Amino acid sequence: MATQALYRRYRPRRFDELKGQDHVVKALRDSVASGREGQAYLFSGPRGTGKTSAARILAKVLNCDNEHDGEPCCECESCLAVERGTSYDVHELDAASNNGVDAIRDLVEKASLGTPGRHKVYILDEVHMLSRAAEAALLKTLEEPPPHVVFVLATTDPQKMSDTIRSRTQHLQFHLLPGDTLAAHVKWVADDAGLDLSQAALDAALLQGGGSARDTLSALELLASTGGDVSDVTDLDEFLAALIDQDAGRILTAMGHAVSMGHDPRTITEDIVRHLRNAFLSLMAPELVVMPPDQLDTVAARAQQLGPATLVRAIERLGSALVDMRHAPDPRILVEVALVQLTDDSTAGDAAALLGRIDRLEQRVKELADAPVRPAAAPTDPATGRALLGGAARRPASEPTSAAAAAPPTAEPAAQPAEVPEPAPAAAAQPAAAAVAAVSVADAWEQTVKGQLKPLVRALYSAGSFVGNDGDTWHFDVPNEPHGKKCAEHRPAVEAALSDAVGAAVTIEFVVGGKPTGRADAPAAPGTPPPSDGVPTPTNAAGDAAPVAATAAAPEADEDIDLGELTDAPPESVQTPIDRLAEAFPGSELISDD
Ligand SMILES: [Zn+2]
Repeated sequence: MATQALYRRYRPRRFDELKGQDHVVKALRDSVASGREGQAYLFSGPRGTGKTSAARILAKVLNCDNEHDGEPCCECESCLAVERGTSYDVHELDAASNNGVDAIRDLVEKASLGTPGRHKVYILDEVHMLSRAAEAALLKTLEEPPPHVVFVLATTDPQKMSDTIRSRTQHLQFHLLPGDTLAAHVKWVADDAGLDLSQAALDAALLQGGGSARDTLSALELLASTGGDVSDVTDLDEFLAALIDQDAGRILTAMGHAVSMGHDPRTITEDIVRHLRNAFLSLMAPELVVMPPDQLDTVAARAQQLGPATLVRAIERLGSALVDMRHAPDPRILVEVALVQLTDDSTAGDAAALLGRIDRLEQRVKELADAPVRPAAAPTDPATGRALLGGAARRPASEPTSAAAAAPPTAEPAAQPAEVPEPAPAAAAQPAAAAVAAVSVADAWEQTVKGQLKPLVRALYSAGSFVGNDGDTWHFDVPNEPHGKKCAEHRPAVEAALSDAVGAAVTIEFVVGGKPTGRADAPAAPGTPPPSDGVPTPTNAAGDAAPVAATAAAPEADEDIDLGELTDAPPESVQTPIDRLAEAFPGSELISDD
């Protein structure tokens, strides 16, 4: 029992245990209770919504010795045999693997033979996969089925079936479960199975399941097997952030990170597509999104920045990559090419890429129009009074500088002034000493320390850079708060390596767009997104002066920098997407054209 998959163990046995499909349950129960069951049903709907379970329950009740009110007893010999899969009255055929005409002819021939129970039930799964000839053979039987035979055709794709087949059946449509129904079910299953899982783990399972009960329980099981650790759950928000930034290196790093945690490329791609779909729905129909409310706020903010055209293009591009991946020897390459095309318009060049570009330009214009007039002076580190290091000079010139603008605007916009750390007195008294160290730490980082880190840690840290210091505390700018938390998990090793390299104690503090992140050494719930005030604040066009100033100040840090201060960024340390790609593939070798 312990090794039985959760979704099998908690598979509904009776109609009233089937979640979220009340209309289907009522139709089936009523017809059975009144003795007017049909001879051919078509169950359609997304995977994991209960089609096969409903078909088996129907098969049970049609042969049950103690049927009551349209429900099977689940105790008689016939019911138990159906549950064990040993009943002679129930025949299941997976049309995805038996799609030829021979399999259907064989089935049709045997259909007319007698059966031990009252009804012989044929369950044909993925029936849209049948060949034309097989469909024709099936159609004949559906037109005149033997009186004791009931067909249940199940499909995720009813549009692919011929109209003649559909017209011979009673068509019942299954729906993805509403978020709250599924959330309650998942909680109940976790409790009933004695799984000691945090709310964060339950949320992660819900998110990965995307409204499918089976996928959600599979995700739950996987999480339970790792002790509810959500740290290896793919950070889907990072993919959205990289799309907003149009940062090919960052999106490939995110992919490399997900693969290094043991997820296969196809699953990752499916997860990204589902996440993009949620982002798209958050713009069009938020009530259809299945995700915890706080995460929905983050996704909605990202969606506002990306715009519908970019989201649709990304969904389509990755969707076609998924189709191609079925036959590809190395599916990872296909998704990586798609991701690069989505983050680098020069590699795509289709009309949709242009539309996405216009979307982003419009968004940028809107941001600039709403931003306050810039101060003339370069932004300085509050602790040292010196110009901030890093930023624009370390980027390839063609790369948009929207990284900071893209930092989640939901990250507590109103509370900044109180959270800026007090400058350490010692540092303020010795600005010159700190400046010398600033160069040496940044140099040490680029020239030696980075190369000594484990590939995973290096990949994580390559998304950020040192932007200044506060005495011995060095500010490392990360793309967003969740990323900062990931980096923080490896902080001791990085601090030790840095301290070794410069010969003095170095402490790292993670900042997002110059603002400190939540203290990562006491995370409330690993893997959860930054807290939000519960109100989606999609863009900084909201008209509220404080958040606008807060989010708009960050890109200026990149643009108004005093170039004379940038002694820590020699040309050879400029990181191109290729460098980051190389980092994401440890052991790989770059072969130049000449
Ligand atoms: Zn029974």
